[in-house]
Amino acid sequence: MLNFKTFLSEGYSSEYDHEHKYIGFGESPREMWENFIAPVHIYNPKNIRESVEHELKFHPQAHGYLEQEHEHASGNILHHVKKGAEAAFPEHEEHKETLRKHKESVKHWNNFKREYEHGENSRRAAANEKIDAYNAHASEHNKTAAKKERKPLIDRKKILSLGHGDKMLSSNGKYDPEKHVGEHAYGKKVKIEGLALAPHKVAGGVNVCPKATAGCKASCLALHAGMNQGEERNYHLKVARSQFLQKHPEHAVRMISHEVEHLHNSAKKKGYEPAVRLNANSDLNLEHILPHKYWEKYGKGGSHEVKHYDYTKVAGRMNSAAKRENLAKKGYHLTLSSTGTNHAESNDKEVSKHLHSGGNVAMVFRTRDKGALPHTVVVHHPNGKQTAHPVHNANLRDDRYNDEHHHPGGSNHGHEKFMKENPHIERGHGKVSGLTFKGNTNKDMEHTEFAVDSHHGVAHIHGHEE
Ligand code: SF4
Repeated sequence: MLNFKTFLSEGYSSEYDHEHKYIGFGESPREMWENFIAPVHIYNPKNIRESVEHELKFHPQAHGYLEQEHEHASGNILHHVKKGAEAAFPEHEEHKETLRKHKESVKHWNNFKREYEHGENSRRAAANEKIDAYNAHASEHNKTAAKKERKPLIDRKKILSLGHGDKMLSSNGKYDPEKHVGEHAYGKKVKIEGLALAPHKVAGGVNVCPKATAGCKASCLALHAGMNQGEERNYHLKVARSQFLQKHPEHAVRMISHEVEHLHNSAKKKGYEPAVRLNANSDLNLEHILPHKYWEKYGKGGSHEVKHYDYTKVAGRMNSAAKRENLAKKGYHLTLSSTGTNHAESNDKEVSKHLHSGGNVAMVFRTRDKGALPHTVVVHHPNGKQTAHPVHNANLRDDRYNDEHHHPGGSNHGHEKFMKENPHIERGHGKVSGLTFKGNTNKDMEHTEFAVDSHHGVAHIHGHEE
């Protein structure tokens, strides 16, 4: 029998189909959730996608801090964020003063969280009542029940507080340098932290994922995979961070800067390479939003150089030599994300162009089995030409900026065999970072347009006019 904590951490793990995993819980976790928690929650883990969409549709200002998004407000907010980010790096600020202001920013963040929680109070009060009722009922039952019939109690703090909320940056298992071992070690260990905002329009205000598609929103890892599905506090923490960044950008960027510096220092002490992913669940053009002084310190060649990398669906961030040069100068590596193939919102043409320029493309394939990733993506251009690009397994580590050095030529055994057997297909320049599908249920995986199909190790997409 699972206790509630295990239920939270495993219960909605993407590896399992919810329908089958928890039969036999007595009062099943789902029933427990639905009876005691879900009615007062912002979303229902039974079908998070539907409830988030419902929430956005009927309560666009669900959390009450930001104006409802529209084009004009979005531009204004981004302008405000940029100005705030600049203000976080004033000329000639003494280090002591920077530290003092950082402390002040942390205080603002803590107040902001309290305010946020207060905004949630009526919901929380109702949740508390339900949890108390459940716990009383479970305790009573447990007094006489045999050990294996006992019901787990609910720890309300774990569900109703914003938890781990002292920082802007956070880490996760995939970022753990000690896990970067074996064939994926690349000869170095990388310590990664990320800024996890709430994706697209979930937090209100700016749409932080301007090129999100229906498919990627529905499968977004930030809402639909692993721990992100079960724990409400993870969800609210992302929303609160996003709103704090939009409302109080100077404070948020001061905190980010302080934490990036700390990441740099602590990684260096252990001999790790420090890296940061500031758009862990967003797609903001940080190469413009963060000021020159930020990049001067933390970018390439800076006194506290930290590798910066992100995935993006906004091909416009790197579709010219000048833009790529600007990113390279800052040491900011971007991997273009495929939105899937053969559907109205597919970005195949952009993917094809990016591969053609030698770039790295991340592609999610319709499988949960790391061993079942294809070895090759074939791009079919309108003039009949075909180019083939090798796929490597990108599941085990996240530092995509290292891929280019550590998969020289990008070759793999299956790909080489395919090239020999298909001499009429040209070798393409760029490489594909292959990812397995992680969100939702197996049923969702079967239907999402976001994932790309492959047969006998090969996937096919439409190319651009050459
Ligand atoms: S663009 Fe990325 S972060 Fe944004 S909704 Fe899509 S998958 Fe999620």
